[in-house]
Amino acid sequence: MNKVTVVDHPLVQHKLTLLRDKTRTTKGFRQLMREIATLLCYEVTRDLSLDPVTIETPLMSMEARMLSGKKLVFAPILRAGMGLLEGMLDLVPSARVAHIGLYREPETLVAVEYYFKAPADLPDRLVIAIDPMLATGNTAVAAIDRLKEHGATDLRFVCLLATKEGIANMQEHHPNVRIWTAAIDNELSEHGYILPGLGDAGDRLYGTR
Ligand code: URA
Repeated sequence: MNKVTVVDHPLVQHKLTLLRDKTRTTKGFRQLMREIATLLCYEVTRDLSLDPVTIETPLMSMEARMLSGKKLVFAPILRAGMGLLEGMLDLVPSARVAHIGLYREPETLVAVEYYFKAPADLPDRLVIAIDPMLATGNTAVAAIDRLKEHGATDLRFVCLLATKEGIANMQEHHPNVRIWTAAIDNELSEHGYILPGLGDAGDRLYGTR
């Protein structure tokens, strides 16, 4: 079963509360999501392996450590996943990016794909899929399906808010994909919104409602 990590760092929880508030402006919402993304990125990369390297400081040589393996891939699910991307790239600027275009069919809440573009060597990289809202989990499951079809084997998932249903859906379909979230909310509305949630993440990010 995939482990779920709730990132309960006080800064994350404080910023999440500000983000949920319906009076937050589009600018403030976008900035807060970027800041939380950086903090979530710190947590999701906590166990990356390091290789020893010899470097010269201005005073002497030393054995230091650097990240091993190929660069990471961040895979935002369009469009709301883009709201987390820049904050993660702030911390890992050399990461590659895979874009996955999926929208939820409003009646059925089924995920429909309209775009996919990823680095060719996904099988050799750690791929971190990102989407602020793990609601029904259908979109996340479909995104991970596509990444696996393109050869990704080492996968993680980062979101801001999750529901028990969304986590269960992911655990059923992708039990080896660990999840990081800032909170697990109580329920899902009949229209697929997380409650209490923060509303439509894409609309709030881009001011489209
Ligand atoms: N997507 C959103 O943007 N908000 C929700 O509450 C659920 C899915």
